[in-house]
Amino acid sequence: MRGPDPRRRVVLLGSTGSIGTQAIEVIAAHPDDYEVVALAAGRNTELLAEQAAALGVPRDRAVCAAGDPTALAALAALPEADVVLNAVVGFAGLPATLAALEHGKRLALANKESLIAGGPVVAKVRAAGGGEIVPVDSEHSAVYQALRAGRPSEVAKVVLTASGGPFRGRTRAELATVSVQDALTHPTWNMGPKITIDSSTLMNKGLEVIEAHELFGIGFDAIEVVVHPQSVLHGMVEFCDGATLAQLSMPDMRLPIGLALGAPDRLPQAFGPVDWATIGALSFEAPDLDAFPCLALAYAAGRAGGGAPASLSGANEVAVEAFLAGRIAWLAIADVVDQVLQSGTGNVENTADVLEADRVARERARVAVAEREAA
Ligand code: MG
Repeated sequence: MRGPDPRRRVVLLGSTGSIGTQAIEVIAAHPDDYEVVALAAGRNTELLAEQAAALGVPRDRAVCAAGDPTALAALAALPEADVVLNAVVGFAGLPATLAALEHGKRLALANKESLIAGGPVVAKVRAAGGGEIVPVDSEHSAVYQALRAGRPSEVAKVVLTASGGPFRGRTRAELATVSVQDALTHPTWNMGPKITIDSSTLMNKGLEVIEAHELFGIGFDAIEVVVHPQSVLHGMVEFCDGATLAQLSMPDMRLPIGLALGAPDRLPQAFGPVDWATIGALSFEAPDLDAFPCLALAYAAGRAGGGAPASLSGANEVAVEAFLAGRIAWLAIADVVDQVLQSGTGNVENTADVLEADRVARERARVAVAEREAA
């Protein structure tokens, strides 16, 4: 039975990663609003133990769940939990997403696989009612906020911004010889190597387009990407009368994390407010699809649906790993993904189908990488 404690009870999956640790900062700063009831991490047992001690989480509720999606799903289904923050990396996060929604929880979602590869499966569970998803990603959080300004039937277009990454403005020819180090130097956001490379190819934005489609039920023709190098405006919604509502803040993930935990309430504390006197010019430009074909590949995979987004994501991971290992050129990342998508993608009905689509795509991508290495 729920006592008089008004605090939202949070299950934090992926607590030792970048999103997890920032979520703990937000929660620790607002002890009257939130209580962490369970934690799960992949391999960093030392930090997990520290977090559990600091937050007063019992030992048996601080789970080292490396590669154990069942344990994560069990935590996501805990009866006392109000909010499940899913910041697990990879497919291990998908069963936890399904469990949280099936049990009627608020799902603060940062796990990409849940909506990209697992989109069709998650859509079924959402359609059955129960839980709700509030996005943690900055662009989707911006759209989530802007959508409040009108009715769903009044939405004309959703716009996601992209920083453009380190190679913005370069031509395809100029991109033929870029190094791993060049690609790892992101101008505005500080992130891990995989997502930083995805940002340099615009694949990250392409994956976010698919996520936006799944989250908000908006068709791909009504989702636009615009390059905005300052990363201050994160996303916007254009309504049928031509009015555009946007969300702006300095790059700081604690704002969208806080909103995902507490929405519709906002945090009482500001993270990344804009100083208008010093911000200077904000600029916008169309993405160059010739230099950054991954964005077009993601739209194509999203429109194809079924197993195509899972294949896109799986093939891209293999291609990015190969690039980071110095095995293929930066431009070949898109070529590998394209080759895998061309080889055909099946349908997905359940989690097993999603995992199979991913496995096949990775296998084909490894072959495509090896072909390029030998050439
Ligand atoms: Mg993002």
